[in-house]
Amino acid sequence: MSGQAIEKKIDNIEGLKQGQRIAFIASLATLLLAVAKAAVGYLFDSKVLVADAFHSGADLLAIFASGFGLWIASRKKTERFPYGLYKVENLVTLIVGALITWAGVEILRDGYDKLFHVAYVKEFPILPVSVSILSVITAFVLAKKEREIGKSINSQSLMANASESFLDIFTSLVVLMGICWPI
Ligand SMILES: [Zn+2]
Repeated sequence: MSGQAIEKKIDNIEGLKQGQRIAFIASLATLLLAVAKAAVGYLFDSKVLVADAFHSGADLLAIFASGFGLWIASRKKTERFPYGLYKVENLVTLIVGALITWAGVEILRDGYDKLFHVAYVKEFPILPVSVSILSVITAFVLAKKEREIGKSINSQSLMANASESFLDIFTSLVVLMGICWPI
């Protein structure tokens, strides 16, 4: 193996590590958001926020699966299975796709529920609004980072998660609207 080839291999492992890092940071942020949405949604009796907590739970599985896949890939790579990455990534991308579809269905179902359930809010819900705004900002930052790193290491599952995070900016805005302006 030439020096250049060795360097390239190390670069790839570094890339995989970088991918794992963003995937696990995103997992942690998504977990915290899911817990905050569930707790605040329950305390303030906000159905839309509780539904969004479940959505974050699905997102958590998707981004965690991506991080786990990248971790497996980096292990396989060190054990000299150059194509391990692609097989694991394909499988993970499939799982991520399924989870994203599920999260989408949950959001639609929630929107449908909201149309037929009247919510009364007496005071301006500062905490639910804060959680939703935090969710919008987090989605924006994660979408940017996941895309940037996903592109640089050519990780399909990270890029799929980036698209999901990008959509989350809008679903969180819809949730925010639902909280501020109950039907
Ligand atoms: Zn999502």
